[in-house]
Amino acid sequence: MKRRSNKEYLASELSHFESYPKGWSQLLAWVYPNSYEVGMANVGYQWLFGKLKEYQHILTERFFSTSRKPLSLESNRPLAEYPVVAVSIPYELDILNFLGTLDRAGIPLFSRDRPEGPIVIGGGDALTLNPFPVADFFDILVLGDGDQWAKLFPEILRELPAGLTDKTEILEAAARIPGAWVPSLEEKEHIRFARTSRDEPAFTPILTSFGHFRNMFLIEAQRGCPFNCGFCALKWLGGRFYNYPAEKILRTYNDFGQSAKRVGLVGSAIAEHNQLDSILRGYAERGVSIHPSSIRLDRISHEALAHLSKSGLKSVTFAPETASESLAEKVGKWIPPDTIVREAKELQSMGFREMKLYWIIGLPGETIDNVGEMVSAIRRITDSCNLKVSCSVNPFIPKPHTRFSEEPMLADKELSKRFELLSADLKGISNLKLDLNYSVRSRLGALLSISDNSIAPVLAEIAAGKGIKRSLKDNSIDLDTPIRAPENPPTDRIV
Ligand code: SF4
Repeated sequence: MKRRSNKEYLASELSHFESYPKGWSQLLAWVYPNSYEVGMANVGYQWLFGKLKEYQHILTERFFSTSRKPLSLESNRPLAEYPVVAVSIPYELDILNFLGTLDRAGIPLFSRDRPEGPIVIGGGDALTLNPFPVADFFDILVLGDGDQWAKLFPEILRELPAGLTDKTEILEAAARIPGAWVPSLEEKEHIRFARTSRDEPAFTPILTSFGHFRNMFLIEAQRGCPFNCGFCALKWLGGRFYNYPAEKILRTYNDFGQSAKRVGLVGSAIAEHNQLDSILRGYAERGVSIHPSSIRLDRISHEALAHLSKSGLKSVTFAPETASESLAEKVGKWIPPDTIVREAKELQSMGFREMKLYWIIGLPGETIDNVGEMVSAIRRITDSCNLKVSCSVNPFIPKPHTRFSEEPMLADKELSKRFELLSADLKGISNLKLDLNYSVRSRLGALLSISDNSIAPVLAEIAAGKGIKRSLKDNSIDLDTPIRAPENPPTDRIV
């Protein structure tokens, strides 16, 4: 992806924000551990940026981890000048990007090496699921929903400005924020994470033509998930499933959508929204095309699909995960290949051009025959239609707080064999785009899901430029054996 200058990125944006709050006295760096394009397509990152911008005493500026020189987007100020550096980490491996950014900025990675500052704060789904591998890097970890932190931490800074106040005093005050954990303070047996209490949908306050979803207004349509797939932590992270009322979703667009012509509905199960029809109708009346993040093809009506197509949507995304009924039963989600084949034809007749499918290899109990079932399902789907079929295949990774948390990630040799089989047997299909996402990074991702802080030195080495394989080997971590959670996983402490 072509990296543009900060000036170009800023010129592409539409927002209601003033560049400089009146009378600010405190600088805060708000980091996304990936590119501008990815970060600006993340509702959580943008939403909390908007919340932090409400404070007149704080100048919050954005940083993206792909910049060679960590300079703020808004003013090109170096990261090292910020007394508070906060990051939201949605995916485990993004921590490497963030540590690389600290390293390039000359900020010591380990909190024990920063007695004077800056205060480094981490949050986001990956750190909520398992903060222990990275606990030695952060002064404050915010587990769960960041809204309370975004409300209460700026107030702490008003009383105790960072850079001018003893750091420990600020950390002691921050430890009282719901969901905040200060690893350097007294060890708690249980660490509470903050469940969201927000009854307004989060949204992206900035539109940009360079985001992953160009000029699209993204808005949360629901929280949590009504399903409970064995490998997925969303049920635990998102709490009770809740649909934001259609009226609020439409009003938020009127108030903050800046007349965007495209709206992204963000949610785990958009087809389950009990007012989906009203939402689709409401946006159609405003001449807006609607892009749901993911839908269950077996749960959405043809009327709703036709409506989406008419509004301009040309691609649908959904996740069958497996083509084997026995595995699907264990997972708790079964979308039979027959259904996908039937729906592919329907989608084509409605004017859709692309179907994006997510699959998992290495689910608990999977055999080579099950991989064969996936191959034939994908072949049947691609044969049955002229749609472009984009398949993204990921390895199973045991996540804490899920039904499959005690299941192993298969040994490297076995997983590689299964991915190679897919690749070989799906060659030469003209309407298939196959993304096989398995590498040494996936294994490191699995380690980050289950480990404690003993892996921190490895992360520090990789962030400083050492290869992943080399670093794991030098630290006697075997990549080839199955990866499974220890008997008493550290993550049991998070409640
Ligand atoms: S995989 Fe999707 S449907 Fe299943 S629990 Fe997770 S978010 Fe819900």
